[in-house]
Parts: sequence; structure tokens; C-alpha cells
Amino acid sequence: MGELRTLPVSFKVEGKRIVIIGGGDEALNKVRLAVKTTASVVIIASHVEVDFSGFAVTIHERPFQPSDLDGAALVFIGDEGPDGEAAKVEGRRRGIPVNVVDVPHECDFYTPSLIDQAPISIAIASEGDAPVLARLIRARIEQVLSPNLGALAKLAGSMRHKVGALLEGARARRYYEELVTSPEIEAAVLAGQGTEAADAVLARHAVDKAAAGVVWLIGAGPGAEDLLTLRAQRLLQEADVIVHDQLVPTAVVDMGRRDAERISVGKAKGNHSFTQAEINSLLVRLAGEGRRVARLKSGDPMVFGRAGEEIAALEKHRIAYTIVPGVTAALAAAADTATPVTLRKVATGFVFATAHGANSEELQHWAALAQAGLTLALYMGKSVAADTAARLIAHGARPDLPIGVVVKAGRKDRVLYRGTLATLSVDAGSIADGPAIILVGEAIAYGNWSEAIEFARSQIKVA
Ligand code: SAH
Repeated sequence: MGELRTLPVSFKVEGKRIVIIGGGDEALNKVRLAVKTTASVVIIASHVEVDFSGFAVTIHERPFQPSDLDGAALVFIGDEGPDGEAAKVEGRRRGIPVNVVDVPHECDFYTPSLIDQAPISIAIASEGDAPVLARLIRARIEQVLSPNLGALAKLAGSMRHKVGALLEGARARRYYEELVTSPEIEAAVLAGQGTEAADAVLARHAVDKAAAGVVWLIGAGPGAEDLLTLRAQRLLQEADVIVHDQLVPTAVVDMGRRDAERISVGKAKGNHSFTQAEINSLLVRLAGEGRRVARLKSGDPMVFGRAGEEIAALEKHRIAYTIVPGVTAALAAAADTATPVTLRKVATGFVFATAHGANSEELQHWAALAQAGLTLALYMGKSVAADTAARLIAHGARPDLPIGVVVKAGRKDRVLYRGTLATLSVDAGSIADGPAIILVGEAIAYGNWSEAIEFARSQIKVA
């Protein structure tokens, strides 16, 4: 994300004047914008060249004088002559924001491309760099918006007092969500029956006391913002609270509703800020308060995500839940390296396993699977990678079995390594920081690991 040099804000102009200096096309363009507001629009021009009739404006055909800026909220200067110069100086002296048309470095503010559905306005701004692009974006946004947005917003505004007396917090928000998204309400508004329809929905929400909370166990994918599912994105927008792990990057958490509460139950290594039991009771408590909770987990929630324990707690307390799958790290790693983890005649299956805390029996089992042609994806294995590789060999896996390591899979700053079980057992200490997936098996040789760092040393460590 870049850094903006300007901040889009909504500037109050009601009861004030917008003063436009100049009588030509530049002035006319700004008049078109200014008359969308309730401000009084005043044109000062020594020579009026274009037709301003048809706009509700006051025209003074005479030179600029300083008192023209009394009560002015904004000044537009579309005149390169002495009137424009004098108005610029006077505006600056009074601290009134000045826009010198088509001279970006002289402007205190720019005017965005505007979608006006009062009271809703959508401004597309380009800091003066690309007005044509801004207009194209506006056209695209207009296509997807209901033409009745403004009417719906007014209806919502008119319900404020009634809603405030009956519903609060999340329940009020849910009411408004239904109000502004329901096709029935929109039809009623068009038929002039908006208030009646809004009252009927309000009556229903007011008796629906049990506004039940829910927990959505959502897979956030491997950490790239565009590797979330559309469903994950939608539910993040609806959630009242987002409870997320350390591994989910801020950019992904930020896709949630801006005023949603965010709770990091970060299990950074060596920093167990919440125990699993605490997370379970947190979810139960939040949903029990009637809130809609997005439990955001890296990758897929059902893969090494301790979802089982959270689901058991929710079921015990009869709290509704839904699971939204995500792209698990091993599959992001396969995509990053074009590795077909199953491959005809080479790999007949794919195993998700954790290297962390694996005992001899498990390692023996995986060694046999790898030997039999299955591809292994080892999670949480980086710190024990050398040891795991050595033990797999000790349990009968071939030392020259191909392996690949993907650190930060699915992200732009991923780092790849490739080698064999034997070289991994020696070189694992050099793997970069960050979460890593270790892929083991014949299929790795069929991927594209050209950007990978090669593990070179092959002296086998004795397990
Ligand atoms: N539910 C997650 C896994 C959580 S367990 C999923 O489905 O991906 C945490 C382990 O996942 C890490 O130790 C690491 O092995 C792996 N992991 C998570 N994100 C990763 C990423 N972007 N790249 C590589 N490995 C990752």
C-alpha cells in the first residue's frame, strides 16, 4: 500500500459560500461540482464567457474584491489574470483552502471524481495524477451500486431515534444491515412505502431478543490478502469481533469491518499469551453475548488449527458455528513451486503431518509412506528439521529422497530450499526465519524449484 499525500475528508459547506473566480470553462466545471452541495455558489468574473444559466448561482460580473471571500468555505480559481491572483493571495491570507484549477502545486486541495447519491457520496481521488482513471473507476463503481442508495440512506437516517430506543450495539447494526440490503425494502422505498416497511422490520428485530451469537471458524490462507475465499471475506465484513492468531498478517485482519473488535490470541513461539482453554472460553463468552465472532486462523482451520477443541467447546455450550475452509500452507507451497503433490505413477497420495513432537513409531510410519511413493508435507518442523530428516533415514527412507522447504509460502517474500533428506539433515540450520513447510517425496523432483537455494552438504548426521 502506498502513502497518500492527501487525505479524503467530507468538508462542511452548508450555510457557507463556495467562491469561483473566472467566467470560462474552468469555472463552469467547478460550478457543476459546487452546485451539488447546499452551499451558496458565487461566481466573480470580469468577463463572463460561458453560459451559467441553468445553475443556481450568483454571478458578479466585475473585478474581484477581498470582501468576496467573507463567509467562504472554499475558493476555486479558474482565471489566470489579476482577479485570480488577487483572490489567491486573499484566500491564503484568510486561511481559506484554495484550488487553482489545473495548477496542482498551487492547490491546497483537489476535487475528486464524485458519485453523488446524497446523503451518500463516493469520492475517487488521484491526488491530481490521473483524473481520467478516476472517472473510469467512478463509472465502474456506479454500475454495481443501486441507484436508490441515497433514498435508502435517508430512510436509515430517519429511523435513528426509533432504533436507538429499541435496539443497541450489534442488534442495531444488524437491523440497519437488513434495512439497506433488503430488496423488499428497496422496492417499498420506490413505492413510497419506505417508512412503513422499515417500521415492520424494526418491530420484528425488537421482539427477536435471542439475537444469537455465532462463531465462524475461518481459514485465512497462507497470508496473502488475495488468497482468502470470497466467503471468508464476506464474513469478516459481518463479524462484530475478530479473534485471530499471530500467524495471520495484519493486512488480512484489516479486511474485517473497521469498527469490529480485534483480539489477538497470538501464539507466537515462546509467547503463549492465551492458552487453548482460554481461547475456547473466550469464543464461548463472546458468542454467548450475542456477538458474531470471526475466529480467523492461518491456512485452513481444520489443519493443525486446534479447531477440534474449539468446536467441542462450542458444541458443549450449544453455540452455532460454521467452518470456512482456507488454503492450507502445504498447498500454497505446492503452488509456489509448481509441485504436483500427487502424480500418476510417482506419488499416489499426500500426507499432512507435524514433525513437532513426532515419536519413533510415527517417523517409522512416515518413512514407510514416503518410501512407498506418498508425498509428505511436514508442518511445524523447521526447528526439528535436521533431526526429523536423520530419523526418517534411520527408519528406512532413502537418503537421496528429494525434499523442498518453502518459508512463508503463498507470500511475495517466500524463500525456497531444495535438497535431499541427507542434505536437509545437515543444512537445515540455514533456513530463513518465518513459518515453513517441508515437502518430502519423489514428486518434489517434478516441481519447479528453480528459485530455490540448494542444500549442498550431504554428510549424513547420525540420528
Ligand atoms: N492451519 C494452518 C497451519 C497452522 S500450524 C494451515 O492450514 O496452514 C502452523 C504451521 O503451519 C507452521 O509451523 C508452518 O509449518 C505452517 N505454515 C503456516 N503458514 C505458513 C506459510 N505461509 N508458509 C509456510 N508454512 C506455513
